[in-house]
Amino acid sequence: MFDRNWDATVRNAALEWLKAQVATYGDVLPRTLLADGFPLDGARVPLLSPKGIFKPRVLREAPLSITTAPNGPYDDAFGPNDLLRYRYRGEDPEHPDNRGLRFAMQERLPLVYLHGLVPGRYVPAWPVFVVGDHRDGLTFTVAVDEERHRWPVARPGSAVHDDAEGPRRRYATAAVRQRLHQRAFRERVLTAYRNECAFCRFRHAELLDAAHIVPDTEAGEPVVPNGLALCKLHHAAFDRNFLGVRPDYVVQVRRDLLDEEDGPTLVHGIQALHGARIRVPRSSVLQPDRQFLEIRYRTFRSA
Ligand SMILES: [Zn+2]
Repeated sequence: MFDRNWDATVRNAALEWLKAQVATYGDVLPRTLLADGFPLDGARVPLLSPKGIFKPRVLREAPLSITTAPNGPYDDAFGPNDLLRYRYRGEDPEHPDNRGLRFAMQERLPLVYLHGLVPGRYVPAWPVFVVGDHRDGLTFTVAVDEERHRWPVARPGSAVHDDAEGPRRRYATAAVRQRLHQRAFRERVLTAYRNECAFCRFRHAELLDAAHIVPDTEAGEPVVPNGLALCKLHHAAFDRNFLGVRPDYVVQVRRDLLDEEDGPTLVHGIQALHGARIRVPRSSVLQPDRQFLEIRYRTFRSA
């Protein structure tokens, strides 16, 4: 017999715990933290395991989370209708994990979605709901909801499918997709640059950004060769054309700033970079694309 109250207690506790972790660590969480989970009634409730569809021991019928492994082609996770596609475990629709997700769909149970960005780093999204089951394609479709709407009171046996909540959930799912792209870009760029500012070698990840060379508003792709790991100061300076980077990786400081007289931030943080070569990843496929730099450098010159 499905204990709806206990199931809701566990899910609520998991969602509240996740919210607190994101408030503390930001929305990219380490695997160890998620695998460790939280205590509940003397038991430990982990949020993930090596399996994609995960049901902690404290739950009997339905899984708590679904995970997408890092380094998969991440667009693969999203279908053309702005919903998430989640593959069955294996090829057997009646595998217990697949049955568990189907049960979650029928009971409208909120789940946690964990999207692997790079090994050991995950972006959580919650609550998510299984809204479709496609035996032919061996996939479920999953919609993200917004927390403020809470989840609907479950009506046993009624699958959600595409009801009146459809448009809102599509929008919420698209927003998560956008966030995943941004986080994935940051993780990949910072990893490629070994968590150092390409201009000044500052190495505290909390104060580093992944800057676009060709801005995403101008169709710049979120790929490492279109990125630079920059500290907050240099990111802002680069975006506002205080500095430019020539296609041969040499920094140029805007002429009027070279002539300006001011304190140590201007002298050491900006002026001293004039003529310096930026630090780039060793692997040539990760280095800044010279054509992207050329496009960006033209903007700098006309600033
Ligand atoms: Zn810097």
